[in-house]
Amino acid sequence: MSRSLLVQITLASFIVSACALPVAPPTPAPPPASAPSASTPEPAEPKAPAAKPEKLTVLCTPQEDWCQAMTKAFQEQFGIQTSYIRLSSGEALAKLRATKDNPEFSVWWGGPVDTYVAASTEDLLEPYVSPNAAEIPSEYKDPNGLWTGVYVGALGFCSNRETLSKLGVEKPDSWEDLLDPKLKGQVAMAHPASSGTAYTAVWTQVTRLGSVDAAFDYLKKLHQNILQYTKSGSAPGQMAGRGEVAVSVIFSHDCVKFADEGMNMLEVSFPAEGTGYEIGGVALIKGAPEPEAAKMWIDWVLTASAQEIGPTVKSYQLPTNPNAKVSERSVKLSEIKLVNYDFQEAGKNRKAITKRFEDEITTAPQ
Ligand code: PLP
Repeated sequence: MSRSLLVQITLASFIVSACALPVAPPTPAPPPASAPSASTPEPAEPKAPAAKPEKLTVLCTPQEDWCQAMTKAFQEQFGIQTSYIRLSSGEALAKLRATKDNPEFSVWWGGPVDTYVAASTEDLLEPYVSPNAAEIPSEYKDPNGLWTGVYVGALGFCSNRETLSKLGVEKPDSWEDLLDPKLKGQVAMAHPASSGTAYTAVWTQVTRLGSVDAAFDYLKKLHQNILQYTKSGSAPGQMAGRGEVAVSVIFSHDCVKFADEGMNMLEVSFPAEGTGYEIGGVALIKGAPEPEAAKMWIDWVLTASAQEIGPTVKSYQLPTNPNAKVSERSVKLSEIKLVNYDFQEAGKNRKAITKRFEDEITTAPQ
């Protein structure tokens, strides 16, 4: 395939200057999402308010089939007509910003919480501490109730075994491996402005290399091997599955999903230097048109039973509720090296970093 850089994102709205950003001292990585504990009681199912809400509109960031399964289950259980629109993290943030004075959505579910932090700095979220949040470990929730974690997952490399073998390249197990000149035009990741997955990949570089400048030095080198920055975070995994690239940088659970769905040339690996991870969030949207239904959704998605729906559609993120069953297809965080990912810092710097990525990386020659 001829090599072309297809930058699918145009960014008009970023105004923060692309200066070097301070990096806060890293926070400790969380313990692995815990195994089920038989002694902890299941959180209460949400109680319907006196006047039952009739409908709910969800801004949904994970995979489409998971959005469908969740909204269908909620609707069946509570009799609330529930619809959703699936948008990648950065698109979701842009949508919330654009509709701030007249919000279309009541609740945002899924996608890394760095973008929720970014949204909260723009006053787009309403604090809500669900009674069921008591069940969720403190490292997976915002102390001010602006967001609560619903799942956890690690970033990884998702490679096509056959394509790698044709190129004579070993499965990557280091960030440096992605810079191999044999991989020119053979690596894909999403654009961090639109994708929470890709932003996790960028902030992972900031964390492991110790500064934004060092991260951008790495990203400039990586750019030499990039075929395409896609809009959605998981799309590069499908490109690898089709053999369009050899390696993609995506959440590892997405790679397992695609392999389970038939792209069986795909294989997950993790960088030995450490990889980033996500806490997928849920939050009440400020000015929500359906606040009561949104709170019922938040209460429900924190329950173990709701968190067990993911694996039924091959979404293998780890649940944050310690009582939810963990799929054997889920990555064990204790078996890989994680960087000390600071979600608050990552979120606060999102606008400036994505602007700098657009200015310095996507426009750079290859
Ligand atoms: N799909 C899955 C399975 C995810 O875990 C996540 C992150 O939470 C996303 C999609 C996020 O999508 P994007 O990277 O397009 O923002």
